[in-house]
Amino acid sequence: MERTEAERTLWKHLFELRELALPELEKARQAKAIGKALEAKLTFAGTSPALAAAGAHLDALRELLNVSQLEIKPRGEAVAVSVNKAAGEKCERCWHWETDVGSHPEHPTICARCVKAVQEGLRT
Ligand SMILES: [Zn+2]
Repeated sequence: MERTEAERTLWKHLFELRELALPELEKARQAKAIGKALEAKLTFAGTSPALAAAGAHLDALRELLNVSQLEIKPRGEAVAVSVNKAAGEKCERCWHWETDVGSHPEHPTICARCVKAVQEGLRT
């Protein structure tokens, strides 16, 4: 499938942010602050065309970086990346760290997104 010009620009921006984030993730891993990337919450602080583009496509960037949580704080000029341990608990089904794990009484070990997927799977 041909990508449109807009999509190409978007992915260029997302990969640019990935380049910024990967060394920080690696540092956090080496410092044992996190284990896998999925245990991390990434925060991008700053303003740049790439961040502006990613703001509307947070899920795509989160998947690309394979982290559980992602936040963009439009603040300051230069872009800084910080890595923290993700909030919440690890979902047993998707291994993402989510703050809504256990919010469904029948599925105490998985996140709300997985509960939805499981319930939809049962219906079809
Ligand atoms: Zn899940």
